[in-house]
Amino acid sequence: MPTTVSEHDREIWTGMLRYLRASHPTICRQWFEEIEPAGVDGGTLLLRVHSPVHRDYLQRQCVPPFREAAQSVTGHLLALRFVGEDEEPVRGPAPAPVPDTVEAVEPASWPEGDRAPEWAYADSLPLNPDYAFDHFVVGPGNRLAHAAAQAVSVSPGRAYNPYFVHGDVGLGKTHLLQAICLRILAERPRTRIYYTSAEGFITQFTESVRTQRMSRFRHKFRDVDVLVIDDIHFLSKKESSQEEFFHTFNALFQAHKQIVLSSDAPPEDIPDLEDRLVSRFKWGLVTSVDKPGYETRVQILKNKARLRSLELPDDVAGYVASKLDTNIRELEGAIVKLQIMASVENRPVTLDLARTALGDDARAERQIQIQTIIEVTTGFYGVKVTDLQSKRRHRSVALPRQVCMALARKLTRHSLEEIGGYFGGRDHTTVLHALKTVADRSEADNDFARIMTTLEQRIRDATA
Ligand code: ADP
Ligand code: MG
Repeated sequence: MPTTVSEHDREIWTGMLRYLRASHPTICRQWFEEIEPAGVDGGTLLLRVHSPVHRDYLQRQCVPPFREAAQSVTGHLLALRFVGEDEEPVRGPAPAPVPDTVEAVEPASWPEGDRAPEWAYADSLPLNPDYAFDHFVVGPGNRLAHAAAQAVSVSPGRAYNPYFVHGDVGLGKTHLLQAICLRILAERPRTRIYYTSAEGFITQFTESVRTQRMSRFRHKFRDVDVLVIDDIHFLSKKESSQEEFFHTFNALFQAHKQIVLSSDAPPEDIPDLEDRLVSRFKWGLVTSVDKPGYETRVQILKNKARLRSLELPDDVAGYVASKLDTNIRELEGAIVKLQIMASVENRPVTLDLARTALGDDARAERQIQIQTIIEVTTGFYGVKVTDLQSKRRHRSVALPRQVCMALARKLTRHSLEEIGGYFGGRDHTTVLHALKTVADRSEADNDFARIMTTLEQRIRDATA
């Protein structure tokens, strides 16, 4: 429903954009230009967004800074609502809050043959609009993986099933998986996609066995059109989860539903993985992502800069690409760092600035943020950030929350109180309890200790 945008609203939004670019550069994306103000209604600023994935990004990452920007521009406290393209900017009460526990809204089952209800996908991991195909740079190391991913997104269930991509950390596996989801959803919005990590699958499976809710679990993983599981190598050694995944795989495959998997190793090299899974993983296309060469790294830097509306001169891109040559995540980290320095010092990105930003001193003092710890851990466990910060005590969120607390204690300088504050205002005794639980378990359970090391490594990788 096109509404005419008043000059006044437009000024507010332009002012907000300017404020955000200056004060919160790292959340800003080029597509913010396409957001349209849709009026202020009873203290709520309505902003119109062109795609659900963009709206989701704003809702998850941007509400506090946007509120701050609105207040700085108008001098008032304004609430915010992001509305979709063809959605009426609804007047009236805000939508009901999401219930605290998922259980509260779940019926025991739903009629055979029906589409799964909304809640079945509610805990699918969120998609990041940065990970679209448009922002994926193709080079010799990933050409095949990319072409196959595109084919899969054009004809899910028919091109390559399963699609299996493997490679070292930070080389674009998660990016490709999400690009597939984003493309399918853009072209067929009603496709039922469930996207999670192997750890998410394992945690939910174990939990469903414990609470005897297997029927619900099976519906959730089998009544989908596309099942996407990141880091499937974590099924290693998990016998009962492997058994369950075997049946999940068969059910989906027989129904011509698409299966998309990523792993840090090719199927046959995943330790302690049942042969029947190894062979199934090879039924479709197994492809790899390899380290990018210099030219590709330059293109990736330029692409990331464009995505963030950062001016990146060629000589700077060349300099950064020659300094960082292992992991693409580091390249993105460098762009973020340049963006922050340019905005703090209010100067353009130059070779000089890049030298300071990436100099050995600067690298030594890079600090790990709790936000990074939370992102890496929630991604790994397949839980949502909001759940970690909620009062839920359910085991499936309690453990990831404790893991986050322990990692925050180890890797940052925050006090126990501050750490508790990040997780729904818990007090320092709760944090101490979490530290002890994690330490005890690391001692007793080698797999868990290995997970802690993996997470720590990923957090360090993500902190470039
Ligand atoms: P992995 O899952 O393999 O560990 P990710 O997919 O998380 O790696 O990629 C790490 C970072 O590198 C992400 O920011 C991603 O967007 C970026 N990246 C990886 N490959 C490419 C590429 N070919 N083009 C652009 N960005 C890439
Ligand atoms: Mg990944």
